[in-house]
Amino acid sequence: MRIFHEGHVERAVCDVDGVVTVTFRYRDVSFSDGSGVVRDLLFGVCDTCDEVILSPPQSLRAISADRNRVTR
Ligand SMILES: [Zn+2]
Repeated sequence: MRIFHEGHVERAVCDVDGVVTVTFRYRDVSFSDGSGVVRDLLFGVCDTCDEVILSPPQSLRAISADRNRVTR
């Protein structure tokens, strides 16, 4: 599995901007259903529009673990 680090730059496709560079940064992210917020996870952020467009597997696992704590 690839591990990403803060400041890592990669090319990706943004829904808004097309092919862009993304920079990996720590972000607080809300669940789409509004059930909570996950703090300080590493995401790929579009360098053009500043939106999160990549979620590394390591961050997705952290979201899942955090969510289990919330619902228990
Ligand atoms: Zn964008």
